[in-house]
Amino acid sequence: MHNLKDKSFMTKVIHAGMNVDKEYGAVATPIYQTSTFKFVDPDQGARRFAGEEEGYIYTRIGNPTIAAFEENVAILEGGFGGIAVSSGMAAVSTLYMALLNAGDHMISTASVYGPSRGIMENEFSRFGVESSFVDTSDIKNIENALKDNTRALFIETPANPTIVLTDIKKCAEFAKKHNLILVVDNTFSTPYLQRPLELSADVVFHSITKAINGHTDVVGGIIVPGTEVLYKKIRKVMVGMGCNMDPHQAWLVQRGLKTLALRVQRAQENAQVVAEWLEKNDKIEWVLYPGLKSHPQHELSKAQMDGFGFMISFEVKGGVEAGKKFLSNVELCTLAVSLGGIETLIQHPAGMTHSGTPKEKRLAAGITDGLVRISVGCEDVNEIIADLENALKNV
Ligand SMILES: *Cc1c(COP(=O)(O)O)cnc(C)c1O
Repeated sequence: MHNLKDKSFMTKVIHAGMNVDKEYGAVATPIYQTSTFKFVDPDQGARRFAGEEEGYIYTRIGNPTIAAFEENVAILEGGFGGIAVSSGMAAVSTLYMALLNAGDHMISTASVYGPSRGIMENEFSRFGVESSFVDTSDIKNIENALKDNTRALFIETPANPTIVLTDIKKCAEFAKKHNLILVVDNTFSTPYLQRPLELSADVVFHSITKAINGHTDVVGGIIVPGTEVLYKKIRKVMVGMGCNMDPHQAWLVQRGLKTLALRVQRAQENAQVVAEWLEKNDKIEWVLYPGLKSHPQHELSKAQMDGFGFMISFEVKGGVEAGKKFLSNVELCTLAVSLGGIETLIQHPAGMTHSGTPKEKRLAAGITDGLVRISVGCEDVNEIIADLENALKNV
């Protein structure tokens, strides 16, 4: 394939890694649906296991269909290589397992994706890993949480579901100074809008279940470390723990990936219009969207992102009951968790995903009673707004 290094994102996302079939020239990556690969002789098997010869051995270790996807995202993020995994949470657990030892401490964004916090506090704590969950939008909170045994800084920006940003560059400087590994969950932005490795983060990862796949039909994840050392360390743990992606899953995700830039472009255009409309609506208390001048980190989003994304949070006046009533009346906007799909998805954390979380803990993470999170899709924006307007009528 011609050199893609200097090409634009729109070209790279369509072509990078996608020239797998040397035999027949298939334009789409073939699905190598095989668990194992035949060696020509025992010596070749030995060379492959020793890493002296390139080639495949067994699909948990590597597979051409998966490798095509890994190469593509690694190029988009500007990393050393990609490590595709079975889900976003497989990425999180692989990273915790690879980067932390018993007795280590990790600092993380308080309002991270719930299970990222849950497995750290409930499972990794069983192996003696300590953690502090703080509001990372203010670097002072990170400084205050630093301990002698802190080894990693784990951030999500914009965070879920509060749309609060964390300054990646500042965190990278802090991490370098204190010898921490900086990991960024880039799910909400995708590499099209934000490339943390360019801002000196060490590792970036995604739940590709969301915008990278974009069609609400596959669960998956990918990790992209910035250096060879980190890549090898993390891949070894992924292979050992069996968190690998499946070839068919990788093939499906490549279909979605090719239109990533087109979909995100359209969805964020829609999101800007929806956010501005919500801000003018008197049934809405406040709206958080990085593209609004009223977002406290509007300037930071312009500095570290190439666009404002498709995620909006807003507070319906009237608390939990009003939020529930509003969401019982949406029709076009689909009442469901997840995000980044081609269709608009809407949910009410206090009444749904966080209904089991104690109110104090929920409020401490910024999840207020009437907070509604919307992942704006690619439909006709006037029709999205008409649906929201209709559902708000009786609130
Ligand atoms: C969904 C999500 C995850 C977890 O990904 P799965 O694919 O559901 O395992 C992690 N981080 C963020 C920000 C997410 O939205």
